Amino acid sequence: MPTQTELLALWETGRTMHPLDQGVLAVEAGFPETTERVADWPLGRRNRALAQLRCRWFGDAPRGWTECPQCAEKLEFGLDVRALAESADPNPEGAVEAGGRTFRLPTSRDLAALVHETDVSSAVRLLLRRIGDGDLSEQEMESVGEQLAAADPLAEIRLSFDCPNCGAQFEESVDLPTFLWAELEAYVKRLVADVHWLASAYGWSEAEILSMSSARRQLYLDMVTA
Ligand SMILES: [Zn+2]
Repeated sequence: MPTQTELLALWETGRTMHPLDQGVLAVEAGFPETTERVADWPLGRRNRALAQLRCRWFGDAPRGWTECPQCAEKLEFGLDVRALAESADPNPEGAVEAGGRTFRLPTSRDLAALVHETDVSSAVRLLLRRIGDGDLSEQEMESVGEQLAAADPLAEIRLSFDCPNCGAQFEESVDLPTFLWAELEAYVKRLVADVHWLASAYGWSEAEILSMSSARRQLYLDMVTA
């Protein structure tokens, strides 16, 4: 478990990065014993590691918000990160076949290579060239997509919604790096606010305040904000 100072430093290092890099950075920080390159993990393995970090760092009952595409109603959702954290990793050597060619599971590094592609179909073609070889027919591309989703089910996390306001039904994917990073940012802001109150009241340094146990710090905060 990283210390509060380490979580603060993690946020500081990654704050201007792309969510894909923030995801890799968080996994590397949370699993320092990992010697492999996290950027080359299949996406489902990365997502599972991020779910484990969510449970470990911030508890296992996260809530998020989305917006109904039809009426803009704000909808709250829960994410079962415990189930994600406990699900099986995809086979890292996992590969699928179509049109006599082999395609490996996409990784963070593959997605990072596509971030500047604004056109979806050219992004898909570029991805397929990275993970396999040669061009495919529309039908073969569809087959590869379906097989990849089956081989690495956690690569994309989709939630279904029923809007209570207008009755619209829609699906949305949850980007786990973005999700975890938003929570890290909220956590860091609360932590810095606590430091601010105690430093203002007692003149203690940030290091002194952060080295205190959360319980003891809370006692002081209760007095300062009483
Ligand atoms: Zn709606």
